[in-house]
Amino acid sequence: MPIDATQPYDDQNIFAKILRDEIPSNRVYEDDYAIAFHDIAPVAPTHILVIPRGSYVSWDDFSARASDAEIAGFIRAVGTVARDAGLVAPGYRLLANTGAQSGQEVPHLHVHIFAGRRLGPMLA
Ligand code: 5GP
Repeated sequence: MPIDATQPYDDQNIFAKILRDEIPSNRVYEDDYAIAFHDIAPVAPTHILVIPRGSYVSWDDFSARASDAEIAGFIRAVGTVARDAGLVAPGYRLLANTGAQSGQEVPHLHVHIFAGRRLGPMLA
């Protein structure tokens, strides 16, 4: 069920539970600002999710409320995850669904990293 990106943060969402290690995930990276783990239902050979440690519903919420250090740290983490996975030379795609019409389902900001095959054209 797509979420409303303007809703308040719900600390019982599934990614909040992954952050707190209350439910397992296949974690590939963590630092002070972000963690990354494999998507449970990958749609590409490599499909990793990167999420900030802070409590932000969406890209909109994050870009409006996060500190400059959190924003810089998160963006650097996304790049590091992709680099460490060897994705730079073959190429990769980033996606951050935001709100109902995008199809965002989990109300904690996440950036998808897709790679490992020739990706189709962007959806409009
Ligand atoms: P969205 O549609 O919100 O942009 O993407 C949510 C993503 O989270 C989906 O690709 C979905 O497969 C993934 N996902 C949902 N629940 C879990 C979970 O419990 N663990 C992991 N690793 N991924 C999940």
